[in-house]
Amino acid sequence: MKQVLIFLLISVIVITCKSPQRQKRNAFAERTGNSPAVVTKTVAVKPCNDPKSHSFLDIDVDGLYVREKEFSRKDNVQKIFKTNKLDKNQYAQFLEDSKEYYDFTTVKTRQKYFTITKETDSSSQLQYLVFKISDYEYVIANCTDTSMVTQMTADENVGRRRRNKHAQKAVYYHPIQIAYYEKNIDTIQIKFAAVIQRSVSKTFRENNLDSKLIEKLSGSLSNKFNLNSLHSGDTLQFIYNQLSVNGQFLDYGHVQAICIKTKKKQYYALDYFLKDDSSYQYVDNGGKYLKSAFLKSPLQKGGNIVSRYNLHRFHPVLQVEKAHLGTDFAAPKGSPIIATASGVIEAAQFTQNNGNYVKIRHDRIYETQYLHMCRFAKGIRNGVRVQKGQVIGYVGMTGLATGPHVCYRFWKHGAQVDPLKEKLNTFKQIPNTYLGSYLKYFASIRKTLDAITLR
Ligand SMILES: [Zn+2]
Repeated sequence: MKQVLIFLLISVIVITCKSPQRQKRNAFAERTGNSPAVVTKTVAVKPCNDPKSHSFLDIDVDGLYVREKEFSRKDNVQKIFKTNKLDKNQYAQFLEDSKEYYDFTTVKTRQKYFTITKETDSSSQLQYLVFKISDYEYVIANCTDTSMVTQMTADENVGRRRRNKHAQKAVYYHPIQIAYYEKNIDTIQIKFAAVIQRSVSKTFRENNLDSKLIEKLSGSLSNKFNLNSLHSGDTLQFIYNQLSVNGQFLDYGHVQAICIKTKKKQYYALDYFLKDDSSYQYVDNGGKYLKSAFLKSPLQKGGNIVSRYNLHRFHPVLQVEKAHLGTDFAAPKGSPIIATASGVIEAAQFTQNNGNYVKIRHDRIYETQYLHMCRFAKGIRNGVRVQKGQVIGYVGMTGLATGPHVCYRFWKHGAQVDPLKEKLNTFKQIPNTYLGSYLKYFASIRKTLDAITLR
């Protein structure tokens, strides 16, 4: 009877199966190249390869109980740890090791989590605690390690009394292993074309397209054309990616191409990968970049500049004169940090001095860097594309920092410059060596756009 129950439970809960070798993907990491053959592809959810494998998020749960639960209004992660007989050292370790994925000091009511236990008639042993952090992301705490670790930590009480940072005490606990899990996100390419009837918003509504997509399209045109100014009779054609998990709509992905035809003119924007820049750019029909300026502040809500780029600054932590090659924006811990321009992430990691930092390549000339984050935003990893204004992390004080702030660094040809003094001098169009292949690509996309049936 118990076996049947376990099997039923697992059958309900097993949502996806994937091979361990499969590369993790995410919503913002559509690394599709420039394939001239644009084919609409419908991706079906793959069935389990091995029907006998009882796995939940790649965890072998054969013989284990998986229970789905949700946070009540009074719950928090600390309580869940206590209820499941995990101690405060394990909780502290969990918070520390998981902070690059999620801030577990704040969870939402009804947010889901799972317990995976080994059970006998007389006992129940927790094996895993799994927290769902988005429609496709999970943080897994593996509690199966039975070894005991000893760690010397600063004794807070002594430290507070005598300000003696060297006072230490030993702490014993069973370590837990933290893992991040991402479900497979399917990218479906969708082609759409319509003759505008009265207004863009009306046309979108009638075709069940969200107004969020209008923003996406405007962004790809670098706001050089106002979509809402289209009139009856104008034509709008575009190709975009739609992201889904298990057949459920998740988000709009990248706009691959857009064409606007008014009575007077035609506008094009094509998402094009440039090897030299290791980055994507929106390009028009003649090979010109549709670039827009960098945002002035790396903070979503703005913020105060507390320390500017200065080659002779007295360092507050090191107590020596040390050039400050960044611009510090102070903000409360957890304030969202955004990409000041679109690009591709070339680093999202931790180092002693920089703490958690992200570095983005924008083109052949410019890179930007954001330091001291308390954690990264969801999906922020090497090789991932980000859009201008997209949240990439949250203000913290990891690394060498005296208070919560973001140190914003602006790189030009591999050297740091002052973003407040830098007059942006970007390349204006595709280099001649690549122009021929771009124009070929453009011709094929135009053909595809023109072949879309008008609504
Ligand atoms: Zn700084």
